[in-house]
Amino acid sequence: AKTQRIDKVLANLGYGSRRDIRKICKDGLVKVDGKIIKDSSLHIDPENSEIIVGNEVVNYREFIYIMMNKPQGVISATEDNRDETVVDLLDESYRPFDVFPVGRLDKDTEGLLLLTNDGQLAHQLLSPKKQVPKTYYAKVDGVVTEEDGERFKEGVFIDEDYKTLPAELKILKSDEISEIELTIYEGKFHQVKRMFQAVGKTVIYLKRLSMGPLELDNNLDLGEYRELTEEELEQIK
Ligand code: URA
Repeated sequence: AKTQRIDKVLANLGYGSRRDIRKICKDGLVKVDGKIIKDSSLHIDPENSEIIVGNEVVNYREFIYIMMNKPQGVISATEDNRDETVVDLLDESYRPFDVFPVGRLDKDTEGLLLLTNDGQLAHQLLSPKKQVPKTYYAKVDGVVTEEDGERFKEGVFIDEDYKTLPAELKILKSDEISEIELTIYEGKFHQVKRMFQAVGKTVIYLKRLSMGPLELDNNLDLGEYRELTEEELEQIK
């Protein structure tokens, strides 16, 4: 079993600083499996112990899964020297969990972004081998046609030597400014924008709607987020 110091466990769960926790332990307020723990440096296995602080049973969790509706102007990273990041948008109580965004959306792209500290899940979702579908909504400068759809189905060159995997285009509105949904099975840098460039058009607005079975919750305004439900978690795992 994985053990950790009790002060670290409780600090990560928002019960105060390590110093605060040393004090509440000294005061006899912390019980592990029915025993009062006065020494806050003691190692415990938080996943398999019942921890009580005062008269509250501690709800231990190792992993956090957050769905965000990413707004424009923030960077999909944990830190940036100049700009606000998606992690900066989270409540401070999430800080100790070290969550990071699963993949990247451009600074000017909106929509579904998953944040977690579960490296294994992130790896699964991002692994090129898994070909997890991602669906985007876009406004495109130019008349998008079924012919573009055919080209995306065959793959287009977004680089001298890189041809995209087959992708699915749904045209919602074909006009001077078109509206579309595009599903891709990989995640190259600026992929959607570069695919439209390859057919001579320019993406002017981009929003991610889904990633695998996970769909953006319409109740989330830009910059808002919530934890995944049990059901969503089961679907993506
Ligand atoms: N494709 C892009 O061009 N940008 C994104 O942010 C995501 C996909």
